Amino acid sequence: MTKGAKYIFVCGGVMSGIGKGITAASIGRILKDYGFAISMMKIDPYFNVDAGTLNPIVHGEVFVTNDGTEADQDLGNYERFLEQDMTRNNIMTSGLVYRTVIEKERNLEYAGKDVQMMSDIPDEVIRRMQALTDAEHPDFVLVEVGGTAGDNENLVFLEAARVLKLSNPANVMFVLVSYLPVLGSVGEMKTKPTQHAVRALSSVGINTDMIIARAPVPLDQPRKEKISRICSIRPEDVISAPDVFSIYEIPVNFERDLIGKRILEKFGMEAKKHDSLAWQNLVASIKAAENPVKIGIVGKYFVSGDFSLTDSYLSVIESVKHASWVLGMKPEITWLDAEEYEKDPAKLKDIGGYDGIIVPGGFGGRGVEGKIQVIRYCRENKIPYFGLCYGMQHAVIEFARNVCGLAGAHTTEVEANTPHKVIDVMPEQAANIAEKKMGGSMRLGAYACEITPGTVSYDAYKTSPVSERHRHRYEFNNNYRAQLTQAGLVIAGVNSERNLVEIVELKDHPFFVGVQFHPELKSRPLNPHPLYISFIKAAGKQGGK
Ligand code: GLN
Repeated sequence: MTKGAKYIFVCGGVMSGIGKGITAASIGRILKDYGFAISMMKIDPYFNVDAGTLNPIVHGEVFVTNDGTEADQDLGNYERFLEQDMTRNNIMTSGLVYRTVIEKERNLEYAGKDVQMMSDIPDEVIRRMQALTDAEHPDFVLVEVGGTAGDNENLVFLEAARVLKLSNPANVMFVLVSYLPVLGSVGEMKTKPTQHAVRALSSVGINTDMIIARAPVPLDQPRKEKISRICSIRPEDVISAPDVFSIYEIPVNFERDLIGKRILEKFGMEAKKHDSLAWQNLVASIKAAENPVKIGIVGKYFVSGDFSLTDSYLSVIESVKHASWVLGMKPEITWLDAEEYEKDPAKLKDIGGYDGIIVPGGFGGRGVEGKIQVIRYCRENKIPYFGLCYGMQHAVIEFARNVCGLAGAHTTEVEANTPHKVIDVMPEQAANIAEKKMGGSMRLGAYACEITPGTVSYDAYKTSPVSERHRHRYEFNNNYRAQLTQAGLVIAGVNSERNLVEIVELKDHPFFVGVQFHPELKSRPLNPHPLYISFIKAAGKQGGK
């Protein structure tokens, strides 16, 4: 390993969904505020090569990096907490690792030896961590191991971690994020599952150095001492992690238990500086935000309850929050099911009860007509509207049909034989679809966008060109550009290199902006996205509904 890089493995215990990603990101943030260079690595044990082919209802949103990697949503948390751009170096899946090993074998790179799961796969994992270290030269690498202690799926990754520790004991530590349920009316906190999780790790040769004790309430000293004793770690290495009102409070909370100091002590290091003021101010501003702003998000990825719903649109929600807080507002987000407006158009008038409406990204035909109806309502009734990717394409379709009179105008994604293909597939994408090359083949990652002066978007960005991230196969069809602009559609952003429309707007409207990219992938709590700020500002002016 590169000399000096320290590896902090963040593993999960007891159950999933208790915040390993946020924990890893928070520790990263704390160490960054101590003056260290941080890298992050997400390990996903599934066999998909990347997250691009995963259903957002089951797995949450697909986060796209500048270099076009379709990644797990935790990379978004890393970017938001650390204010650093992630790349393909910051993620690995079983699919990716196994594919590399098999390709090497096919290229005779193992020179006749038999290729083994428990040695060659962990070696490839370690090689990838080395590559990250070589590329980024961090002081610390936070490695989040997907899954839970005791799973079979993540065994090869834990084996890699064990081998790394063996070869470099002073540079590796293990953090277990565990859950302590509180049972019954007496509120008894149960420590036994955590004890089992520590045992599950030790059974694969890993000794836990620190426990993040996730629980509904803070841990008291007797409880810390109990966990310390049964899990064989020092009480000061049991970090209390109660439920919080905002995930952004977590670094501040961890520091109440001096987590940063303890980690540095373990590695025999000292802080280079103490600079957590910006983060503390952020938390204060979240607590102080009080003027409500009501935002409706019209989507379809929410059949299985609140949890998956917020996960499917995670970056959109976070971006709305970031922009609202910086404006002193408290966002109230309501989920609107697009299909409801198809079943019962009378419901459209409820849209008037929101300060702003977002139609986020999506794929396929379900719910599309409902979304188009909502957009029409926003256009005609001057309700702030922000269309993200598919939401921009729907806005173009709505305008073509209802303002330009192009009956049946559509995207060829939904209606291949539409008389007016206002949104159409690019030739290179048509080839991908024909050859069934669907994984990792969309227009992905960062592209330049030139902003037209005098537009709402220019007013927001105050600069041009900008760089924004993409994830889509279909585009605005330039054959309709003249007709639509003559009817009043404003082209506020283009990629001139490929002659692609990137932003559309309407005049004489409080805010009607559709973007072909995903601005939410670049919003950070300490640096909210300018378009989201403009949207929330316009929504805020609707106030008091
Ligand atoms: N389905 C649309 C396309 O592929 C939009 C994708 C998205 O919203 N991310 O072009």
